[in-house]
Amino acid sequence: MQKTKGYAAATAKAPLAPFAFERRDLRQDDVAIEIKYCGICHSDIHQARDEWGRSTFPMVPGHEIAGIVTAVGGKVTRYKIGDRVGVGCFVDSCGHCPECRKGQQQYCSNGMVLTYNGQEYDGTPTQGGYSDKIVVKENYVLRLPENLPLEGCAPLLCAGITLYSPLKHWKVGPGKQVAVVGLGGLGHMGVKIGHALGAEVTVLSQSLRKQADGKRLGADHFHATSDPETFKKLQRRFDLIVNTVSADLDWNEYLNLLNTDGTMVVVGVPDKPPPPVKAFALLRGRRSLAGSMIGGIPETQEMLDFCGKHDLTSDVEVIPIQRVNEAYDRVVRSDVRYRFVIDMASLKSL
Ligand code: NAP
Ligand code: ZN
Repeated sequence: MQKTKGYAAATAKAPLAPFAFERRDLRQDDVAIEIKYCGICHSDIHQARDEWGRSTFPMVPGHEIAGIVTAVGGKVTRYKIGDRVGVGCFVDSCGHCPECRKGQQQYCSNGMVLTYNGQEYDGTPTQGGYSDKIVVKENYVLRLPENLPLEGCAPLLCAGITLYSPLKHWKVGPGKQVAVVGLGGLGHMGVKIGHALGAEVTVLSQSLRKQADGKRLGADHFHATSDPETFKKLQRRFDLIVNTVSADLDWNEYLNLLNTDGTMVVVGVPDKPPPPVKAFALLRGRRSLAGSMIGGIPETQEMLDFCGKHDLTSDVEVIPIQRVNEAYDRVVRSDVRYRFVIDMASLKSL
């Protein structure tokens, strides 16, 4: 076993604090990674504070991991010491169900193994990326583009793929009208990727506070949802709406902004159930309401390569791990532009 330094929540009410634990010894198909950076996803906060229920503690959160390979098992063929690699939201899946065979491990019928707040198939609890090292099966490790800085890559492993996957699935490209609801960690990647795919991108944000940023990130239009006029003037405008907000918004108002055959994809997880969806909001214009969760390993690699080609990374605020609790509070207040990323060098002083 390998001694590992990290930060963990001891209980749902406790702030994160230094935590020592052990990673498994390298197996034949494993890659050992020195973690350089880890993004702070809003899902980390939901889980560390047990807002979804069934959290297990102590919990080392973190599923936006960027680092360097330090060792490989005897049967590893694709990675070598020194490679720049990433790990996202899961570290294993059954490998044989129809979803896994299609490369959509995130929908594994037997349940994927979450990077943290999960269990390996042998029952060992998993611990995430707010730590100095991790050991992961080769097939669940991603290759990071050589031209992109590691800290800007880390958030691609969750925020990036969570937006890339629905944008690709619903065939976003030139001539398509796309709206991104909420300009946070996920939302700002949606704007960048949607723009790079050639779509006309609109941000729907609570206020106009982030308007200049939205335009800089690639949005063509920016509207405040606090202004009731927004919902009047944008009726039937969009082919696709990606909703990244974790508050209980009234989805009916947003469905009315879809054009005929338009789809609203929910990726944000509301704290409490939103108001019921009315049949007429869907019937008028043959609209769809859908959901999407992260992405499979092949699509995550495709997204990383796409980001490399388009020189696309997350806008990050790099912090030492000692400031993680303050960062959590700022994310909850929507006071982040646009992703906190922890510099794991700060763990060395522990
Ligand atoms: P985030 O950085 O906090 O961004 C969320 C954004 O939502 C905020 O920046 C804010 O944007 C908007 N917002 C916040 N409170 C709001 C309110 N009361 N009313 C309206 N808008 C509000 O969070 P994130 O990391 O992007 O994650 C967003 C959600 O997606 C979380 O629920 C997370 O758990 C979930 N998630 C899902 C997946 C998946 O696979 N489906 C993956 C990762 C995360 P404005 O200031 O622009 O309004
Ligand atoms: Zn995430």
